[in-house]
Amino acid sequence: MIKENLEKIRATLPVGVTLVAVSKTKPVIDLQEAYDAGQRIFGENHALEMRDKHEALPTDIQWHFIGHLQTNKIKYIIPFVTLIHSIDSANLLEAVNKEAKKHDRVVDCLLQFHIAMEETKFGLDMEEARLLLDSEAFKEMQNVRICGVMGMATFTDDEDEVRKEFKHLKEIYDTLKADYFADLPQFKEISMGMSDDYPIAVEEGATLVRVGSKIFGARNYNS
Ligand SMILES: *Cc1c(COP(=O)(O)O)cnc(C)c1O
Repeated sequence: MIKENLEKIRATLPVGVTLVAVSKTKPVIDLQEAYDAGQRIFGENHALEMRDKHEALPTDIQWHFIGHLQTNKIKYIIPFVTLIHSIDSANLLEAVNKEAKKHDRVVDCLLQFHIAMEETKFGLDMEEARLLLDSEAFKEMQNVRICGVMGMATFTDDEDEVRKEFKHLKEIYDTLKADYFADLPQFKEISMGMSDDYPIAVEEGATLVRVGSKIFGARNYNS
């Protein structure tokens, strides 16, 4: 079913929206099936799990890290990660920069914003983002590149609320683009939308959607 699911979802995505197949908790054979159906971008939220899958699967896969990243786990993913969606503090960005430098890489990152009503979701607010982007420390970071923003909407059936939160993330993106990244074409990504809400996210300007269960089926545990 993975192939059919992928095809169904791809058919609904307009040009310019990229599908990240969120494969967390799923076995390598499931990822291989998606790969065989043409999928090349996978999202994971645990560093060691992502490293192990990276080692087991074809080398032309682009690995996106989408979960809360602990600083002591950064080293496992820096050698190969394509995009980190979940930079939620200045400290984390600094630690990623430091590790990327050791590997002589420039690692693409998104700033994760807290846009949901739930307290539990990680992310920056605008003030924290400005502090980070205005800091001397940030100006000296040569081994990370900020490519856009990421956010997770509230887990709710209330579509108006979800839409409002995605609109908010788009406004954050537009503001940062104007104030900090106007001349930097790499700042172009808005990562928002999951299995239940990605159509709304696309309508509100998502460039990356992170879809898991709609491709791979329900997960055994929530993570
Ligand atoms: C698990 C996860 C997803 C995908 O969730 P689904 O509802 O299964 O599509 C997307 N983004 C993040 C950050 C996740 O942790």
